[in-house]
Amino acid sequence: MTNADILFQNANLPAAPLSDILVRDGVIAAILPAGGMAAEGRPTVDIGGRLLLPGFVEGHIHLDTSFYGDDWVPHKPCTDGFDVHERVRFQAENMADAAPMIDRARNQIELSIAQGSTRMRSHVMVDGSVGLASLETVLAVRAEYRDLIDVELVAFPQSGILRSPGTDRLLDEAISLGADVIGGLDPASFDRDPQRHLDVVFGIAERRGVPVDIHLHDGGSLGAFTIEEIIARTEATGLQGRVAISHAYGLGDLAPDAARRLSARLARAGIAIMTNAPGAHAFPPVALLRAEGVTVFSGSDNIRDSWWPYGDGDMLGRAMMIGYRSGFYTDAELEAAFDVVTYGGAKALGLADYGIEAGKRADFVALAAAHVPEAVVAVPHQRAVYRAGRLVAENGRVIR
Ligand SMILES: [Zn+2]
Repeated sequence: MTNADILFQNANLPAAPLSDILVRDGVIAAILPAGGMAAEGRPTVDIGGRLLLPGFVEGHIHLDTSFYGDDWVPHKPCTDGFDVHERVRFQAENMADAAPMIDRARNQIELSIAQGSTRMRSHVMVDGSVGLASLETVLAVRAEYRDLIDVELVAFPQSGILRSPGTDRLLDEAISLGADVIGGLDPASFDRDPQRHLDVVFGIAERRGVPVDIHLHDGGSLGAFTIEEIIARTEATGLQGRVAISHAYGLGDLAPDAARRLSARLARAGIAIMTNAPGAHAFPPVALLRAEGVTVFSGSDNIRDSWWPYGDGDMLGRAMMIGYRSGFYTDAELEAAFDVVTYGGAKALGLADYGIEAGKRADFVALAAAHVPEAVVAVPHQRAVYRAGRLVAENGRVIR
């Protein structure tokens, strides 16, 4: 026993009898049937038979662009159907009037922690218009909250790479400054030159040894073509297992046979797919992708920003949305939706110390549900969130 021991008692773990968990220095040291270990003067936390889940993985968020906690910003529709360029323009106009970014990013990160996320990947705008200023702000917020949540940052060229002069150099500098992942944006439709766009993204990934996460909104055959190009680049650079495509709407437009063929290629290249089961949009076939061996993960993406008014940072609620939109009804399907917001995210982000088992970090969410399928459909809001064995949020309030 050390001073850093904590005994979590009476935890209802998925697929296990009622359990006690010994946590040492923030790491799970042992899991035993309830009552199997004497407290012996250790501090104890009685989970009281509630369901104990691994901390959620918020795999795709934008900490720099949300207006959560700020004045309500009414959504402005595009002039003629969805247009990424026009939305980027609306965003720049809205950001000029918004509260300071550091306050908005704090609001949003606290929301995510309170909802039970203990790991996060945030994209942050890096381009000719904002330079590295947004990244510097979000890096400061990451440092401020580093004992409450792990945050990985993606250098995200929101205004394209080729269309926004100097962005290639800024993206490279962003990695020096502390960004962990290199991003991209619709290489074909936004920059109109997928090869040169991908040259920059994969060039930085190779040179800097960082993973890749590309926003790809393009649907239909243009989306499928771009996915094929990303597969080819991933294999050519030996980055298997370190590349993700966010949204990949095009996968949702393909006929099942074509989707299966492309999914098998994604699985071979170790490319993960991020989906947030967006509104009325076509989105990737989650069950088909998983059946082919593709890692599927999720994120809130935009929370009350210039892109849409929705979002509450709740990854359990996101699992419900993924299940709902995917037509998941059986317990196995509901568990698959839950896997997307937990273990799928951990795999996509390469988190080796994730999960409820000995040797992994003690990141837990305790809530009132009998099992995972019930948690996914009921989305209980009363939660206790632990990071490395320490209570960091309870019932919607962050504890610092
Ligand atoms: Zn995004």
